[in-house]
Amino acid sequence: MPKAKNNCCSFCGRAASEVQFLVPGGTPGVFICDSCIDVINGMIQEMEQEKKSNSKKSLGKKLSDVPKPVQIKEFLDQYVIGQESAKRYLSVAVYNHYKRLMQADDDTDIEKSNIIMVGPTGTGKTLIAKTIARLLDVPFTIVDATVLTQAGYVGEDIESLLTRLLQAADYDVAKAERGIVFIDEIDKIARKGDNPSITRDVSGEGVQQGLLKLLEGSVVNVPPQGGRKHPEQRMIPVDTKNILFICGGAFDGIEQKIAHRLNSHAVGYATGSQRRVKKDDYLQYVEPQDLKSFGLIPEIIGRLPILTHLEPLNREALRRVLTEPKNAITRQYEKLFKMDGVKLKFNEDALDLIVDTAVKYKLGARGLRSIVESVMIDSMYEIPGTDAKQFTVTRQLVADQLAKSTKIHH
Ligand code: ADP
Repeated sequence: MPKAKNNCCSFCGRAASEVQFLVPGGTPGVFICDSCIDVINGMIQEMEQEKKSNSKKSLGKKLSDVPKPVQIKEFLDQYVIGQESAKRYLSVAVYNHYKRLMQADDDTDIEKSNIIMVGPTGTGKTLIAKTIARLLDVPFTIVDATVLTQAGYVGEDIESLLTRLLQAADYDVAKAERGIVFIDEIDKIARKGDNPSITRDVSGEGVQQGLLKLLEGSVVNVPPQGGRKHPEQRMIPVDTKNILFICGGAFDGIEQKIAHRLNSHAVGYATGSQRRVKKDDYLQYVEPQDLKSFGLIPEIIGRLPILTHLEPLNREALRRVLTEPKNAITRQYEKLFKMDGVKLKFNEDALDLIVDTAVKYKLGARGLRSIVESVMIDSMYEIPGTDAKQFTVTRQLVADQLAKSTKIHH
């Protein structure tokens, strides 16, 4: 250590002879002494301690205040028809997310369990995620994996996923660091083809590698305004260790991969060769290896340890979707009409025809809304301003409106 007589600590001013040692700084003539280092060290530790207790404190909750998995599921039941398995998995995962945020600092660290939901489009993946967000008081955001590209290519950087979370947390970093991110269409970043030698797969494997960093928990520099349009913006470091990631994807065609696996290893499954499984039923047997066959890299799969599936919605489920959820489509129209002082009623057989149409044209739950919209458009145009007090949607009306509609038949 330089201990030239004339040198002194640039912080406390003590001379080299009065201290144990002086550490030279980057600029000539600048030094720091051992006792100043001690003091600063103490300050850093104090600050970190405070930051830790702040982030625990600001959660402002005890575990007893957090809804239990059964209650979370009951809440989901009010909005999401069917999908029992996915709702149970998600309820437990969210409860455990709170537990992890409140855990004591001891040797056992409860690690986070990110989730992946596999299920056909329009079966309620986003709906489940959104409904959970209503219940929680942690920041929540939904992002789409299709916009992501590897750094340097046209599209969004992976880090921009967290921009939305920061925004949802009003830029309170500590809050964002315990939030939940729903990544939709995760299947769209699967490697094209099961060929690991394709290394220049911009939209696929490169993005997965980037995503891995986020999923496994690291400090990521997030552009606060997202995108690449603001190159001057100062990045905000966000620790993803406690952020829960829920991924969803349709994984079109994964049933074949599941079927193939089940049929070639029929042993151990009562399904396989003994009992014929309907195509739609294969999804319930989805396993991590099927995601791999689909083109997700093993490291990503390993970071999404909770794998659950959603069932295709059959006729009966679609019928329930129409009327049962708290914000069911028919209830929304009833509310619209009520605001004009009109009592709206849907006849049962009219609803049946709406569902039949959705089934016939394979429009799924999303199609229900556009069908009802086509059915209601003329009445919504004509009724306001008249002195009508009630209006009934009959099967005949549905049939007539659908015959007129140009949208539904394509
Ligand atoms: P995805 O699985 O593609 O994310 P969404 O959750 O976005 O599908 O579903 C689209 C719409 O269809 C929802 O907004 C909702 O109106 C309806 N829907 C889909 N699945 C269900 C369900 N299980 N229960 C109630 N409504 C549903």
